[in-house]
Amino acid sequence: MIQATTSDDTYEIYAVKYGRHERKAAENYIGGDPHDGMEPIDYFVWAIVGPGGPFIVDTGFDEKMAQKRKRQLGKPIGEGLKAIGIDADKVENVIVSHLHYDHTGNYDLFPNARYHLQDMEMGYATGHHMCHAHLRLPFEEEDVVAMVRKVFAGRVAFHDGADEIAPGISVHKIGGHSKGLQCVRVKTRRGYVVVASDTIHLYNHIEQGRVFPITFHVGEVLDGYETIKKLAASKNHIIPGHDPQVLDRYPAAKPGLEGWVARLDADPK
Ligand SMILES: [Zn+2]
Ligand SMILES: [Zn+2]
Repeated sequence: MIQATTSDDTYEIYAVKYGRHERKAAENYIGGDPHDGMEPIDYFVWAIVGPGGPFIVDTGFDEKMAQKRKRQLGKPIGEGLKAIGIDADKVENVIVSHLHYDHTGNYDLFPNARYHLQDMEMGYATGHHMCHAHLRLPFEEEDVVAMVRKVFAGRVAFHDGADEIAPGISVHKIGGHSKGLQCVRVKTRRGYVVVASDTIHLYNHIEQGRVFPITFHVGEVLDGYETIKKLAASKNHIIPGHDPQVLDRYPAAKPGLEGWVARLDADPK
C-alpha cells in the first residue's frame, strides 16, 4: 500500500540513469573475478524530492567527457530530471558525493544551486595526493577547477563528517574509494534509504565484502559497508552507485521511464 507523502521530513527518491560502460567483471574488483564474463556498470544521478527540495545528488558527465573516457552516454541528465518534473535551472541544492569525473561534471547545469561537499574531498582533490598519477586518474582538472570557482563564488557548503542537509536528509563521510567520499541518508515512506553513490559500486561489493579497484583506503571502504548497514533501515534500503540491477529491482518512476528513471522510495520488486 503506497501512502501519500505528508510529513515534512519524508522524501521521494529517484535514480536517473545517464550512461553505461561495458566491461569485464574482473575490472570491478581488487583481485579480479573468477568469471570471464561481462559486468557492465551504469551511471546515475539521484533526485530527492519533497519539502524544501528537490535535492540532486551528483551531476554526472557530459558528451565530451563520455568521448574522452570512452563511456556510453544515455539521455542527458537535464532531460531525465525534466521527465520527473524537475527543472535544473530551479534546483537550489546539489549534494556532491565526491569529485570523480562521473559525479561532478555538467557544472553549469544547475546555475542557482549551492553545492554540498565534504571539506576533506576538496582538500584531497586540490592537495598533495594529486601529485600521484594513480590517484589523479578518476579526477578531471576542469571539474576540480569548476568546484574551486564555486567556492570563490560562495556557492559551496562544506560538511565535515556527518551533517544534516535538511530535516530527513543527512550526509555521512565514508571515505575509502575517495578520501572525502560521502553517502546520503534519506527518510522515506519505507524508512531510511541510503543513496550510497560510490561507497558501494555494485550489490556484490557490499554483499560479498569485495572492493572496487579505484580505492584510496581499503579499510575505510570495508568499514564503510558496516556504517551504511547501520544507517539504512535494512539491506533493501541501500542503493549502490553503479549497479544496473537498481533499474530492475525498483519500479519505473512512471510508465515510459523503464530502464531510465526508477523510484527508490518504493519497495523493491
Ligand atoms: Zn568514484
Ligand atoms: Zn562513480
